Amino acid sequence: MEQPISVTRSNFNDWMVPVFAPANFIPVRGEGSRIWDQENKEYIDFAGGIAVNALGHAHPVAVNALTEQAKKLWHVGNGYTNEPVLRLAKQLTENTFADKVFFCNSGAEANEAALKLARKVGLDSGVAGKSGIVAFKNAFHGRTLFTVSAGGQPKYSQDFAPLPNGINHVAFNDLDAAKAVINEQTCAVIVEPIQGEGGVIPADIEFLKGLRALCDEFGALLIFDEVQTGVGRTGSLYAYMNTGVIPDVLTTAKALGGGFPVGAMLTTDKYAPHFSVGTHGTTYGGNPLASAVAGAVFEFINTPEVLEGVKHRHQYFLDALNTLNAEHQIFEEIRGQGLLIGCVLKAEYAGKAKDITTWAGEEGLLALIAGPDVVRFTPSLIIPEQDIDEGIARLKRALAKLAK
Ligand SMILES: *Cc1c(COP(=O)(O)O)cnc(C)c1O
Repeated sequence: MEQPISVTRSNFNDWMVPVFAPANFIPVRGEGSRIWDQENKEYIDFAGGIAVNALGHAHPVAVNALTEQAKKLWHVGNGYTNEPVLRLAKQLTENTFADKVFFCNSGAEANEAALKLARKVGLDSGVAGKSGIVAFKNAFHGRTLFTVSAGGQPKYSQDFAPLPNGINHVAFNDLDAAKAVINEQTCAVIVEPIQGEGGVIPADIEFLKGLRALCDEFGALLIFDEVQTGVGRTGSLYAYMNTGVIPDVLTTAKALGGGFPVGAMLTTDKYAPHFSVGTHGTTYGGNPLASAVAGAVFEFINTPEVLEGVKHRHQYFLDALNTLNAEHQIFEEIRGQGLLIGCVLKAEYAGKAKDITTWAGEEGLLALIAGPDVVRFTPSLIIPEQDIDEGIARLKRALAKLAK
């Protein structure tokens, strides 16, 4: 076989548009919750590709689904449907509140579809000006112009003005603030059950219940962005299942494909017909390859053993992190659900989350941040306990550098 082109990390700076600043090593291979770089250095993976690699790396269930489908049919375009996408739609609708699914390729696209659907439902309602969207400060919904505008972090949107208008941001977990802006002109409220990128901040159940009541009162769609919290991440199939609140629209991506790009917008028979033929679309959405992988990943995760295992690992992680913290006094708070865990730095270490993940890399651990003050872990949902132990040991060595 011909030698592949030789590449190094510095080539990133040579050839890549500089929107990212990746670590100074290049992962080349993974198995379970371990990864190896070009120098064959091993890393424990507590990042999981940002809450994506739900089954870790190279899991046989995902590999088999991908390779079997790859031999049959990759892509047909939306002039034809296909078997894997229909099977996946059946799985998603049978196991959630939803009756109908729109498939796409990412979280941003799923939210884009959700917001466009809400605008269309608002238009079709006949109520003049029913196009207002209520969103929350500090939220993250993706990087398209509409979703970055719905997101509540101006640093991601302000450089791209003029932005789509009609979006109102109020404080997260502040029901009175939401009440003050939700009215007859509101077509949607979009909220994350746990703000992920914003710092792993869970929504209060009373807050979500209040939003549900306000949406019912004013005929607005309640959209749950479960791109990060979905597909077993919290120990339930979807986080809304922990809340007793049922949304009208749910968006899911990240872990859905276990690493293969796929996203979906779920909704009910009440709203789906507003997206009539030609009103929205995508070339790749519902592609047979992505759907086959997602179907296999979904089937594997949606079992009591795997979901219970996430809850068990949550406790295991928390015990280990609390022990570490009792010794080193670095974290003010450790929060989150299931395997979406945020460690908030004490005030004296504010702004050091990125440094900690860099030092973690040096010690052989992949970890994430969620803002400048929160170290975030979103590992595989089936990470072995011995890998958790080893990762925590490496984290401990990384944190020792903070003291210096
Ligand atoms: C990651 C994320 C998105 C965006 O998903 P992409 O696949 O990057 O477009 C949207 N919402 C939430 C809550 C996310 O965590």
